Amino acid sequence: MSQARVISGVGVGRGAVVGPVARAHPVPVVSAAAPAPSDPEEAATRLTEVFSQVAASLQARADAASGTLKDVLSATALMASDPALGSQAVERVRGGTDPALAVWQVAGEFIEMFTAVGGYMAERATDLASVRDRVVAALMGLPEPGVPALERPSVVVAEDLSPADTAVLDLDNVLGIVIEKGGPTSHTAIIAGQLGLPCVVRAGEASALVDGDVVAVDAAHGTVTVDPDDAVVAAVVARREALAALGEDTGDGATADGHGVQLLANIGTAADAERLTDAAVQGVGLFRTEVLFLDAQTAPAQDEQAANYGRALAALGGRKVVIRTLDAGADKPLAFVTQPGEENPALGVRGYRLVRTAPELLTTQLAAIAQAQASTGGRPWVMAPMIATVGEAADFAAAAREAGLDTVGVMIEVPAIALRARDVLAVVDFVSIGTNDLAQYTMATDRLRGELVDLLDMWQPAILDLVAGTAEVGAEVGKPVGVCGESAADPIMALVLTGMGVTSLSMSPASIPAVRFALRQHTMETCQAMAQAARSAPSAAEARAAALAHVEPHVRDVLALD
Ligand code: PEP
Ligand code: MG
Repeated sequence: MSQARVISGVGVGRGAVVGPVARAHPVPVVSAAAPAPSDPEEAATRLTEVFSQVAASLQARADAASGTLKDVLSATALMASDPALGSQAVERVRGGTDPALAVWQVAGEFIEMFTAVGGYMAERATDLASVRDRVVAALMGLPEPGVPALERPSVVVAEDLSPADTAVLDLDNVLGIVIEKGGPTSHTAIIAGQLGLPCVVRAGEASALVDGDVVAVDAAHGTVTVDPDDAVVAAVVARREALAALGEDTGDGATADGHGVQLLANIGTAADAERLTDAAVQGVGLFRTEVLFLDAQTAPAQDEQAANYGRALAALGGRKVVIRTLDAGADKPLAFVTQPGEENPALGVRGYRLVRTAPELLTTQLAAIAQAQASTGGRPWVMAPMIATVGEAADFAAAAREAGLDTVGVMIEVPAIALRARDVLAVVDFVSIGTNDLAQYTMATDRLRGELVDLLDMWQPAILDLVAGTAEVGAEVGKPVGVCGESAADPIMALVLTGMGVTSLSMSPASIPAVRFALRQHTMETCQAMAQAARSAPSAAEARAAALAHVEPHVRDVLALD
């Protein structure tokens, strides 16, 4: 290693961990202009061998895995040994096509065909793409794309991870995640937070890390220390112990003087909900239902959806569960609805706007939620993402009530609607502020562009104003105003939001103990003073510093807030 010993990035969460690096590798790029093989027969033989090697290695990984990972790997191994794909590619190589290009082309045609057939076949398109990428990488002499099989607990380092990569992480062996690109509200960061894994994003210099390097990942400070000395390792151990001790308080969220603030979890799957059955959370504040269907090639049927929602409601056993309708598009593309050719997908047909192009998706989903409500006796709250007008909020509320759902809300994540919070709260029962998108749209800054992370900072005065304005209206009209963006997980911000009048904070479950602890140590009056101080500051950095100045010293210490 020749670069500086401490790599800086942006931390997600407060955790820390030490472990060896396991690098994930990107999908290879195949040139359409690749020259013909000099000996097509030899190239064809080699291609057949590569297919068998890939199938064998996938099967070996599947045999060693369990759960979802095992299922995914077995299905992919089966696909790699399918004779149709291999023989058609070999045929093209014999005809003079470069082997990697031949695999790319044939797999592409199969993927198109599978997708067109729909149903079970369409589901297999992802496995096929995975086989294609592995075979092509082997042919080009590149490492296997995606996260490698982890033989020991490791820190996964990647340029970026796709939603599909994160879905199959071998959680028993992932200690932490370091991403060179991305931002703190990117998909990988959110999933890492969800899993309680210490994560540092935007760590550009991590590109020099190689398998086996030992690193200390400190999410609270956004640093990755290469080859840490004893003092750094001791600090990591101390932080882990301090954070673990916070888990002993399992009470409801409340300030030191007993002002209640609900502490809720963000989830993406029914399995996430099942992990909460015995957890000290007051419910789910955001069920990102699109996560259930990231791999789906066709729209999920009502019964399949109802089964997932029902599992979540049952797992939470009567606690509050806020189900968000599909937020497909932009950073969360779903194959069955994503609009092709949008130049600015974040500003396009995404979230609630899909009602314009595929209204049946919303109707089916609301019916599925109502079905889950009926079968479990739970009382789901339901909300729509990406609402921009009061008319949309009213239409959504009418559709949800018509479906038999009676606690209906919308997300406040578009500035236009934050500015009209009073009108919105007249037509819905609650709102939930999505600060990830609210920051993106207020600051006109792509939430996936890590290099603009300073603009996306939730402490930006304009964002604070929009949140405070919404919370004030909620308090006035007596309706709940939650925050479910990543900012709720920042203990200092959580105090500020409480001071503004926010009634619930929803975050990755792993972040809850630190926020609960911070709340317990400060009165409502202090929280209000913090909100006031932050809002009087002219810049994001000054706003945070002004709020931090009110935080109790031992809270700063335990949570490494400086
Ligand atoms: C948000 O935008 O803050 C939010 C909670 O939704 P998502 O991150 O899923 O877009
Ligand atoms: Mg959002």
